[in-house]
Amino acid sequence: EWLEFPLEWYSEGALEVDDVLGGSEASAGQGGEAPSGSNAQAVNVEISEGKKDEREGVIKIPGKGVFQTYIFEHRRNVHCYYDPDESAWIKLPLKWELKTDVAKKLGTYGPEVAAGFEGALSREKSIIMQNENYDEMAAKLTTAERKLERREVRVKKLEEENNYLKSKIAEVEELLATTKAECSATIAQVEVLQRERPVTAKSRGGSGGGGASAAAAAAVAAAAAAQTQETISKDELKKLYNGVKSMHKVYLQLVSETKTQKEFTSKKITELKESMKRLKQCGSVTEEQIEEVRTLYRREALQRKLLYNQLQELRGNIRVFCRVRNETSAKMSLATPNDQDVVTVGGNDKKMFQFDRAFGVNSTQDEVYSVVSPIITSCADGYNVSIMAYGQTGSGKTYTMLGPSPNPFSNPGVNVRAIQELFRLCAERKDTTDYTMHISMVEIYNECIQDLLRKDVKQVDLRSTGTKVTLVDITEQPIGKEKDILDALDQGTSNRKVAATKMNSQSSRSHLVLILTVIGKDLVTGTRTKGTLTLCDLAGSERVGKTGATGEQLAEAAFINKSLTSLGQVFAALRDNQLHVPYRNSKLTHLLMPSLGGDAK
Ligand code: ADP
Ligand code: MG
Repeated sequence: EWLEFPLEWYSEGALEVDDVLGGSEASAGQGGEAPSGSNAQAVNVEISEGKKDEREGVIKIPGKGVFQTYIFEHRRNVHCYYDPDESAWIKLPLKWELKTDVAKKLGTYGPEVAAGFEGALSREKSIIMQNENYDEMAAKLTTAERKLERREVRVKKLEEENNYLKSKIAEVEELLATTKAECSATIAQVEVLQRERPVTAKSRGGSGGGGASAAAAAAVAAAAAAQTQETISKDELKKLYNGVKSMHKVYLQLVSETKTQKEFTSKKITELKESMKRLKQCGSVTEEQIEEVRTLYRREALQRKLLYNQLQELRGNIRVFCRVRNETSAKMSLATPNDQDVVTVGGNDKKMFQFDRAFGVNSTQDEVYSVVSPIITSCADGYNVSIMAYGQTGSGKTYTMLGPSPNPFSNPGVNVRAIQELFRLCAERKDTTDYTMHISMVEIYNECIQDLLRKDVKQVDLRSTGTKVTLVDITEQPIGKEKDILDALDQGTSNRKVAATKMNSQSSRSHLVLILTVIGKDLVTGTRTKGTLTLCDLAGSERVGKTGATGEQLAEAAFINKSLTSLGQVFAALRDNQLHVPYRNSKLTHLLMPSLGGDAK
C-alpha cells in the first residue's frame, strides 16, 4: 500500500526537515532547487522555534508561496494470527520485516510463522472474497433453513404413517391367529363328524340292497345311534357340512387377504425405508449446511468483535480522564468549564489542561463509571483492559476506584461497577458463550508483590515468557456471583491493612492491583477467549521533596517514584509507537505489560 514519493515532486518545492534530524543545513530540498533567498529560511526558523510538534514543517512551492506541512499518522490494517496457547492475536510480520536483522534478532516470529505467512496472505484474500458473498450466503442460509423445516414435517408424516401401518399389521396378525385357531377347532369337529359319518353312509348305501339286509343295517344303525346317544338327521348333517364349507371359504379368504395385506405392508415398509435413506442423505447435506451456518456465525461473531475493537481504538486505546474532588473546607482551585477542559482558578498564572473527559466537583460515581463502561465489553470479547487511578494522596483515587471509606459499597466506585457490568454481559451472552471468571488481588510495595487473597499474605514472583506475564502461585478465587467479588474485595482490603501495619506503611504508599480474568468459550464454534480486567489504585504521586521524607520513608517514596515514572515512560513509548517499550523497569509496568501494549485498552 505504500507509494513511492514521486520523483517529480522533488522539483516541486523544498521539504524543510526539523533541526533535530540533521541541522538546518540538511533541510534544503533534495535534488530540486534549494529554497531561493532567505525568505523560506526565515519562515523555517520562525516556526521551528515556536514548535512543539516535530511532525510540523513548511514547504515552499515556487509561484504559490510557503505552506505549513504536517506528517499525519494513519492507522493501517495489521495482519494477525490467533494463537490458542496465548489466547491472543499475535501480529504477523510484514514481508520485508522478516528480512531485516532487527526482526531476526528479536526472534519474535519463529520460522513456522514466516513459512505460514505467505499462505496466510492468500487465505486473507479468499476471506475478503468470501465476505463479499455475504448477502448471497445469508439468502442461502434462509433457504436451507426452510428446506430443513419442510423435511422435518415430512419425516413426521412418514413416521405417523409407519406407526399406523405397524398397528394394522398387528391387528391382521391377531385376526389370523384367531382365525387359525377357529379353523383348527372346526376341522377337528369335522373330523369327528366324518369318523361317525361312514356308518350312516354305509347304511344309506345298503338301503338300495335287500330289504332284510336293509332292515338289519337299519337295526345296526339304530343300535349305533342308540350307542352314541345321538341321532343326527341327514338335514342336520348337510347343514353342518355347508357351515364348515363356508367357514373354510372364509378362512381361505382371510388367509389370502392377510397375505395381500402383508405384502402391501412390507411394500410400504420398504418404501418407507427407502425414503428414510433418502432423508438421511438429505440429512448429510443439511450437516453441510449447518457447518455453513456455523462458519457464517463464526465470521459474524469475529466481525462484531473486530468492529467493536475498531470503535474502541478510534476512541483511543489510551484514554485519560480527570476528576476534580470536592473539598468544602478549601477554596476551589480547579474548574471544569466543559467536559474536556480543566482550568486553574485563582492565582495569576492561569493554566488549562485537556483530557478525554473532565469531571467536575459534582460528578457522581455513576457518571465517572459511564465513560469506562464501553471498554468492559472489550474485556468480555477477550481483550485486556486496565483502568488505573493516578493522583496525590487524598485526591480521591480510592474513592473513585473502590468507594467512600469506611463503607465503600454504600456508593461503589469503578471496581464494583465494572465487575457488575461484566456479570451482566456474561449473563446476556450465556446462550452462545460459557464464561468463567476468577479474581486475584495483589499489592506492590517497595517493588515486592504481595498476594492479598491469602490468609498469610505472601510475596509472589513475576515470571514472563514472550508476551505472557504470570504471577507464580497467585491465588485465583473463582467468582460466580456478585457476593463473591465483595467478599474477595473485603478480604483483600483487610489483608492489605494487616500487611501495611506489619511493614509500618500506609496503604496509600503501595499500588493495589485487582486482576479479573474472564475466560469465554463459544458454545457454537468452541473458540476460547481470555480477557483480563486490571484495576489499579496507584500509590500517591506526591514528590519526596514535598513530603519531607527521610530514611525508610525516603526509600519507599523512591520506589513509588520509580514505578510511576516507569509508567509514564511506558505510556510515552506506546503513544509514539516506539519499538522498545520499557516495561521491565518496574514491577508495576512489568505486571501490567499485557494490559498496556498491543490492542489492550
Ligand atoms: P486517595 O485514595 O487518592 O488517597 P481518597 O479516595 O482516600 O484519596 O479520598 C480522600 C478523602 O476524600 C476520602 O475521605 C474520600 O471519601 C473523599 N473523597 C474523595 N473523592 C471524593 C468525591 N468525589 N466526593 C466526595 N468525597 C470524596
Ligand atoms: Mg487511596
